[in-house]
Amino acid sequence: MTSYQIHCECGAIRAELSGSPRVKGHCHCEDCRELLDIPFHSVTAWNAEQVTVTRGPDSLAEYQHPQLEMKRFYCKHCGETLFNSNAMDWRIVSQHLIRKCNSGELPEELAAESHFFYGQRIVDIDDDLPKHD
Ligand SMILES: [Zn+2]
Ligand SMILES: [Zn+2]
Repeated sequence: MTSYQIHCECGAIRAELSGSPRVKGHCHCEDCRELLDIPFHSVTAWNAEQVTVTRGPDSLAEYQHPQLEMKRFYCKHCGETLFNSNAMDWRIVSQHLIRKCNSGELPEELAAESHFFYGQRIVDIDDDLPKHD
């Protein structure tokens, strides 16, 4: 099975992503924006069991958003977010983090296929990917 390795900035935490993500795309929803303070979220989304912390689980802290059914999982030492979760308990891993941990290249098969929640966007995107509300 294909797997991908991610780690936080300081290296205390490593995690492995196995198989194929459920979703790969750019999410323009208000919830991602609220949780992460970013204009949109370029993501790969995985089932919880596809993501295994392989080093430093004690360093992994979680932040439960007070209103949203979302959590942010981050390193206690360097503060970097490894992934967040949503109401379906998916693990949402930033495409950017995967790229950073893979010598600056996003594996081709993880490339975004669409924009979703595009109706909630604050930034217009001029590309050829399908855009779903
Ligand atoms: Zn760290
Ligand atoms: Zn979102």
